[in-house]
Amino acid sequence: MQNKEADTHIAHFIDTCRRHQLKITPQRVAIYRELMQSSQHPTANMIFNTIKLAFPNISFDTVNRTLMTFADIGVVDVVEGFGGPKRFDPDTNAHHHLHCTACGRIIDFEYERYAQLDIPEAISRSFTVTSKRVVLKGICATCSRHSSSSPSQSSNRRTASA
Ligand SMILES: [Zn+2]
Ligand SMILES: [Zn+2]
Repeated sequence: MQNKEADTHIAHFIDTCRRHQLKITPQRVAIYRELMQSSQHPTANMIFNTIKLAFPNISFDTVNRTLMTFADIGVVDVVEGFGGPKRFDPDTNAHHHLHCTACGRIIDFEYERYAQLDIPEAISRSFTVTSKRVVLKGICATCSRHSSSSPSQSSNRRTASA
């Protein structure tokens, strides 16, 4: 992410925290910044492992609760169910996901025709749709390349949580 774009995100983050009366602490800014810089849709545990280098006294629980609070106020998204621990997404704009079922990677993509997907009338009558995301499950390029040479690839998948 470009510096200028990152600054805009941080400014928006601080503004949203203020509107929700959430105190801006160095830890919270660091957690947000770490998530924003990651393109991996990380777990709370992945964020915790980096954050504790800068804040050795921080607990996993604090990091996890902070991320859930960020999701509550809408500055980050929780990625749709994947089976493993929760994954967080710093990009709250409409976009779609590829889920690699072998390594657990979640890859962002955009596609104009998905953005224009119709909502069936029977649904829109009884259900207010606030966001649409298409999730495609499959095997990423890295995993298909290595599937014959390295069957243990799936051990990369994060299952650790607290
Ligand atoms: Zn993969
Ligand atoms: Zn995403």
